[in-house]
Amino acid sequence: MSEIHGDGGPIPIIPDNLTIPQFILDVHHPARPVLKTPQPWCVDELSGREVGSDELRARTFGLANALKLRWNIGEDDVVCIFGPNHIDYPVAIWAVHRLGAIVSGANPAYTAEELEYQLGATKARVLISHAGSLPVALAAAQKAGIPNDRVVLFDGVPGANNVTLDTLVEEGLALPQAFVERRLAPGEGKKKLAFLSFSSGTTGRPKVKLSLTCRNAAHGAKSADIMAHYMGVKNQNRPKEIQRYLPGSKILALLPFYHIYGLVVVMHFHLFVGTTLVVVQKFNFEQMLNSIQRYRITHLCLVPPMIVLLCKHPAVKKYDLSSVRMLMSGAAPLSSELTNQLESFLPDCWIGQAYGMTETCTAVTFPPNDRRLGSLGSGGVLLPGCIARVVKPDGSLAGIGERGELIITGPSMALGYLNNKEATDETFLDGWVRTGDEVYFNERKEIFVVDRIKELIKVRGFQVPPAELEGHLLDHPDIGDVCVVGIPDEYSGELPLAFVVPSVSALTQLKEGREEGGVKDAIMKHVADHKVNYKHLVAVEFIEAIPKNPSGKLLRRFLRDRAKELQNTG
Ligand code: AMP
Repeated sequence: MSEIHGDGGPIPIIPDNLTIPQFILDVHHPARPVLKTPQPWCVDELSGREVGSDELRARTFGLANALKLRWNIGEDDVVCIFGPNHIDYPVAIWAVHRLGAIVSGANPAYTAEELEYQLGATKARVLISHAGSLPVALAAAQKAGIPNDRVVLFDGVPGANNVTLDTLVEEGLALPQAFVERRLAPGEGKKKLAFLSFSSGTTGRPKVKLSLTCRNAAHGAKSADIMAHYMGVKNQNRPKEIQRYLPGSKILALLPFYHIYGLVVVMHFHLFVGTTLVVVQKFNFEQMLNSIQRYRITHLCLVPPMIVLLCKHPAVKKYDLSSVRMLMSGAAPLSSELTNQLESFLPDCWIGQAYGMTETCTAVTFPPNDRRLGSLGSGGVLLPGCIARVVKPDGSLAGIGERGELIITGPSMALGYLNNKEATDETFLDGWVRTGDEVYFNERKEIFVVDRIKELIKVRGFQVPPAELEGHLLDHPDIGDVCVVGIPDEYSGELPLAFVVPSVSALTQLKEGREEGGVKDAIMKHVADHKVNYKHLVAVEFIEAIPKNPSGKLLRRFLRDRAKELQNTG
């Protein structure tokens, strides 16, 4: 087998001279469905507040004007959004894009240290945050040199002096337009930065902290266009019952918008195809079931741990989920068993899995048009315009059913890592991306992701770079050497476990009677105190020496196997 090409081309002409808000809000692309009755674009899950396209558009202009007037935000300035999903999240993104500036989304659960790192790495000038994270936002902003009055809040907080996004919108709309909207020259959409997303990349070295630059077009115009072509246009010729996007469709937008899956697939793509976003600020499983029933949700994009709950939680029986026509899983592997269980209680729902990564600006594969054609456990088929190579360890191309590393190209590949040529050169090769994932394709051109070659642990779909934790752990006085590996977990997919060689001082203290459990607890607390919750260690195991090859590289696989043995022996 040589290269594998995505079916379904050719891709319709993609405008490369439009910014994302121009593409999504201002121009009607021919691949976009025409809705006979206007629908809300976003609905707030809890309050039920609805926002339509006119209001969204006006708000982007108001906010852009205020950002320009107050802080002179313009070409290539970075605005960081450090908040949960919010009905104004798209407004914040598109206002920044109208100014020619760049958005960087941060996990609202980050500690001040983690946020400070992101603010520094991206040189952010304004921080948009929310009530729950205000103290962290203020602490990180101060350390990163962002004045406190540039910390904007999605919603007001009693007692806080920080301006709200609503106030900025009103201010910007009341004053004459002070900015010239950024327009792109033909072809510029392929180069203009729109987002800086964070990914650990394939090597996951600490402090390399790979900022990802994405093409403007890749996030809005390009990938939306490809997907619209594939799923929308193609399906228009199909029987009604298997059309995926019909007028009146509603998606429960609960995956975080700061992550590529929530940003591109859930937010931009679904708005592009005319699906209403019911925006969820905080994930709560019973609330999710309740909202599916309340809003008659038709589309769900989930990660496997949410599907574990759907399959096992007793509350599921109490709710009517019959409106759900499409359920997609991504970000981590979904087992055949879970897919089977889902199908048993959602028999009329189209269930599938997609595969992608931040570096490929999300999905490069999607389930085939008709789910009955898809194989259990498969991550789907290549999107139109994508080409895959599966490379075996000896450098030759794999045949059908043979495993190797997936190297991929397509219209939505990111440009590279910000200010990091070495990491960019390792992963991005002439428009191709080395995924670090071990895969195979079957004779129907479906992909199966079998393992990860790169140093990355995924907990509930979130990236946990082992090297980041190792770098942090080595600062602890009880640790002489350390290696962090992922161990399988039914709910989270994986959890990080640290193999630790105690330091000389810790060994002396242990001999003098210090409890082993106390040392392990102190090590786990060291991570818990400084890192976001999904990076917390599940356990610490002492070991005499970390196995390394002659050049000093950690033999991670050996320890991964050792961890599994420990798990199996209880
Ligand atoms: P991220 O950049 O956070 O989206 O992480 C990308 C990584 O998630 C990929 O390189 C894979 O290791 C993993 N991944 C994403 N989708 C899938 C899937 N459907 N099956 C297995 N692994 C996946």
